[in-house]
Amino acid sequence: VHPTAERRPHAIKVESENTSYTDEFITSRFANRGSEVTVTDGQYIIKPTVQEYEFQTKRAVSKTGLMMIGLGGNNGSTLCATILANKHNIVWHTKAGIQQPNYIGSMLRASTVRIGTDATGKEVNVPVSDVLPMVHPNDLVLGGWDISGLPMDKAMSRAEVLDYDLQRQVAPHMAAMGAPLPSIYYPDFIAANQEARADNVIAGQDKQAHLEHIRKDIREFKAKHDLDRVIVFWTANTERYADIIPGVNDTADALLNAIKTSHDEVSPSTLFAVAAILEGEPFVNGAPQNTFVPGCIELAERHNAFIGGDDLKSGQTKLKSVFAEFLVNAGIKPLSIASYNHLGNNDGHNLSAERQFRSKEISKSSVVDDMVDANRLLYKAPKVNVKTGEVEGKGEHPDHIVVIKYVPAVGDSKRAIDEYYSEIFCGGRSTINIFNECEDSLLATPLILDLAILAELMTRVQYRKVGENKDFAPLYSVLSLLSYMLKAPLVKPGTEVINSLNRQRNALESFLKACVGLEGNTDLLLETRIW
Ligand code: NAD
Repeated sequence: VHPTAERRPHAIKVESENTSYTDEFITSRFANRGSEVTVTDGQYIIKPTVQEYEFQTKRAVSKTGLMMIGLGGNNGSTLCATILANKHNIVWHTKAGIQQPNYIGSMLRASTVRIGTDATGKEVNVPVSDVLPMVHPNDLVLGGWDISGLPMDKAMSRAEVLDYDLQRQVAPHMAAMGAPLPSIYYPDFIAANQEARADNVIAGQDKQAHLEHIRKDIREFKAKHDLDRVIVFWTANTERYADIIPGVNDTADALLNAIKTSHDEVSPSTLFAVAAILEGEPFVNGAPQNTFVPGCIELAERHNAFIGGDDLKSGQTKLKSVFAEFLVNAGIKPLSIASYNHLGNNDGHNLSAERQFRSKEISKSSVVDDMVDANRLLYKAPKVNVKTGEVEGKGEHPDHIVVIKYVPAVGDSKRAIDEYYSEIFCGGRSTINIFNECEDSLLATPLILDLAILAELMTRVQYRKVGENKDFAPLYSVLSLLSYMLKAPLVKPGTEVINSLNRQRNALESFLKACVGLEGNTDLLLETRIW
């Protein structure tokens, strides 16, 4: 068994007055430290703050199902085949020799977190998945929907992602999964070039009936496999944006009513999200469209249901959220970032249509915003209207363009070219070009796993403020802690989006550690700086 697929139950135990263990729960106490800043006469006055919280994590992981919308696509079929390969320990021949299945690319299973130092002062790291009890990917029960009715073994070969020798061996297991469940198809939302695939659709045009149908599918899947939890995951084609229309999708009640009256602007992805929310199951959106219209977020809040999104952050944007931050933090000023992509898989085919491309363009565009906002030495702040006091515009910003082209020949092997053109010392210029080539679905698939596993974990964590004498309560509905794996992170309305990959990872690590009573990361390493 490859180390990333290893099982290590209870690999960590914290011995501290802040942490207690029972058979059922891990309970921890955590001091949330911050500082409150006010400006008086041009001076920043900073007051450190501290609020203590308790976290309670249920130790028994849920028996979890993962129902994907777009099950028969490249991501869906690749995820199923690779989990089955891990589960049945299928090894295969490639031209380079024998290949073992693994979970490389999963932040949870293939990356580590520093938990302290041993007696000699050497740092100790453990897999992230060891910090709290998490579902093992091999244990996920897989299922879902697709508008294409091709059985899963055939869907895998259509995807042209995996080595032939792996496909050959895993095919019987994939065939046993059968075909995806019929899905909701509203042709207006995805590219016209997808129509030929749509041979497995739920009949009729009645959106309320479609909602009931999907809810029933979730309930039946849950009952059939005796599951505690089902994660519903959109990895279907990118849809066009839905228009936000007052009285239609701006509030929870409006949205429910718009479904009843089969309003044109309710997309399939929003219907799936509503179905999951009403069933009390987490929903994650792996594509860029605005599934989470304001009414959908309000509905999730009302039902204390968990939602996360948007759009898997696998390649170019992931690098950008590291690279742009590196430049700005180094005091270098990017003047323009120009990004070109070409790819030849079905995702690329769908994105060759203007309105679907637009969804992707929006999701890829805002990634440098917070880094620019944080450095007003390099970028001029937005103007403030002296009469009204209102902020006008967004202030200075690097030029940023994103181009995506469909080139069938390259298949799933996506190419991304980025030029970072920056101002350096005393009028100088620097140009950095990055060319990256990767197998798209093999980068995206482990992210789906991480998102599903974290979403399940979040359903088992509860919190309360120390001193309030209240019961433990679930976390807030929008799971912004999932941002590390997402291009355009959905956050609590009214709060800031963090795009920096490092900050996103720190947040997640600190949260996991807080749940076992460990203080966040310290790179101060004071003992190495003093006598
Ligand atoms: P794909 O085209 O191979 O698969 C999508 C599947 O969704 C297809 O099988 C299609 O038949 C199905 N589908 C379309 N509409 C549906 C509906 N209403 N209900 C059920 N099924 C439906 O695409 P992919 O490469 O697997 O990518 C899936 C999604 O993930 C895309 O939206 C893509 O933009 C997004 N994404 C992918 C990556 C990546 O690196 N692969 C990264 C970020 C985001």
